[in-house]
Amino acid sequence: MRRQDDSVRRKALNFEVVYHKFVPIYPLCSPFPTPNSDVNIDFPYPPMIRVTDVAKWYGSIRAVENINFSLAPGEIVGFVGPNGAGKSTVLKMLATYLLPTSGKIIIDGLDVVTHPLSIRRKIGYLSGDTPLYQAMRVDKFLRFCGKARGLSGNILDKKLAWVVDICGLSPHLYKRIDQCSTGFRQRIGVGAALIHDPPILLLDEPTHGFDPLQVLAFRDLIQSLSENRIILFSSHIIHEVAALSDRVLIIHQGNLLADGSIDNLAQKTGQSRDLEAIFAHLVRQQNCGEIAHA
Ligand code: ADP
Ligand code: MG
Repeated sequence: MRRQDDSVRRKALNFEVVYHKFVPIYPLCSPFPTPNSDVNIDFPYPPMIRVTDVAKWYGSIRAVENINFSLAPGEIVGFVGPNGAGKSTVLKMLATYLLPTSGKIIIDGLDVVTHPLSIRRKIGYLSGDTPLYQAMRVDKFLRFCGKARGLSGNILDKKLAWVVDICGLSPHLYKRIDQCSTGFRQRIGVGAALIHDPPILLLDEPTHGFDPLQVLAFRDLIQSLSENRIILFSSHIIHEVAALSDRVLIIHQGNLLADGSIDNLAQKTGQSRDLEAIFAHLVRQQNCGEIAHA
């Protein structure tokens, strides 16, 4: 019975992804408010994630403010900014682990404030600290994550085999996690985020600890996954984001400075196709704006 429920749920999720890719249902349900920033991506189909005027304060500390963007399946989006810029805060709010102080986050038609559990089923989230049970074996840990996601029997076996294959986990599948390298542990974390085959992947600093070859392998992995999924990953390493993403969100001191492909951003800022130069230009512009307003 349980297995049947799982299979129905999986089919429903897969259907959802296909459906969102081709059928514009959102405008029929409730029109989204227009974001108040100049961020304006023309999607071929409605966005699955819409973030509108979001702010997060930790007590008196303003972490992020005026965050507006939309994401649709099929894109690999890099979220880049220096440490402390607000990347993890935004990802935690998307993953429903933190509530926004103000603004709205709608995921697949559901509000993160009112429907966190339904939203979590659609999300694979790798948090910045890659929480793994260090004393567990890699295969047992992934099985445990699959069960926690409601998978069992054949479906769990298949998903486990799939994750092991695409994340390249077979060399150390029967090792204890604490005996694996940092890069390998990150891959286990990505595998755990993927085990229920979610339509949305939120990865906080997934390339932390990767060597250059592992970064290339990761690029192949997320490209192979991107067709029907939203993939948003954060990094403070600008050239990695440039190499891995179709589109970039640049955040600095809690403000979203830019959103677009590198070509698009180069054109807008009058810089070369060098994300570092674009980033430096945008930060200078922001600082000038702040001085002008002071
Ligand atoms: P990033 O992931 O880009 O490094 P974070 O989202 O972790 O940035 O942090 C954004 C800002 O919020 C920083 O100033 C950070 O110090 C602050 N911050 C993050 N988490 C907390 C917290 N739990 N309590 C107070 N301040 C926090
Ligand atoms: Mg972070």
